Amino acid sequence: MYVHIPVRSATLLFTFALLSDAADWCYESSVPACVYDVAHWAEHYQHCGGKSQSPINIDTNSINVNTSLHNFVFEGYDEILSDVHMVNNGHTVQVLLNGKNLSVRGGGLDGEYVADQFHLHWGNETAPGSEHQLNNIQLPMELHIVHHKASYGNIEGALTKPDGLAVLGFWIDVGKRNTNYDEIVNELQEITHKDENTTIPILKMADLLPANCELQNYYRYHGSLTTPKCQEVVIWTIFETKINLSQEQINRFFTTLMTGNIRLTNIFRPVQSVNSRSVQYSQGQTLLLKGTIALFTCALTCFIMMAF
Ligand SMILES: [Zn+2]
Repeated sequence: MYVHIPVRSATLLFTFALLSDAADWCYESSVPACVYDVAHWAEHYQHCGGKSQSPINIDTNSINVNTSLHNFVFEGYDEILSDVHMVNNGHTVQVLLNGKNLSVRGGGLDGEYVADQFHLHWGNETAPGSEHQLNNIQLPMELHIVHHKASYGNIEGALTKPDGLAVLGFWIDVGKRNTNYDEIVNELQEITHKDENTTIPILKMADLLPANCELQNYYRYHGSLTTPKCQEVVIWTIFETKINLSQEQINRFFTTLMTGNIRLTNIFRPVQSVNSRSVQYSQGQTLLLKGTIALFTCALTCFIMMAF
């Protein structure tokens, strides 16, 4: 995940530190002006060497069902947002949601978490690039929606608290063309270079995600930002149901975007040791109602929701 902190709210000193940090880390040492590639983050960013780092491999043989992980409540995700900013920050493509009144609660979270941004991770033509793995398998891409705890005021304040951030993660697999991503994919050509930004005229977050009734099954653990400074302040949720994009749509990310004079590829951190942490699994429908019954229930719920 990548955290954007609004510069206008920071002190001059803090701003300098952030800008300097943003310029000197990268995933691969081939990136221009890179000082610390992913293998060397911990030498400069102390938290990156911690015991509760992200991403991790999710081993479904080692998860613990937690019946207190109820469904999420999404606020504003169904609203049509206008003029949403999207930027190539040199590490990923990021869509800014701060000020758009999106939040989540429920889902085993303590209180409300306000959305700040979402961004993606990807690989290259021949290799996948999700951050979290599922039974040691890497998926083609991963979407992260970053939220801060409302009671901490803003993301800067939340970055010092163990439960400061809630990040919703979605694996992206190859499937049919997903027309709900057309605007994002088409706008990538406007932000080919680092620090370029563009505006998406209309965006509805719910359209980018699996149907609400497919979000009951998810994995939960406590971890970190997956980019420097790697603070261990993230309540991670990785949803079981994947988003599908076509191969052509996926290709557009790593064939369009650049950082310096090279293409923006392989922008993921390798999985980190789980150590003593446990990964929890929500008590979703597929556990209670296997196979077609669960699918039927979900389809029926969606149908009812659409009808009203
Ligand atoms: Zn991320």
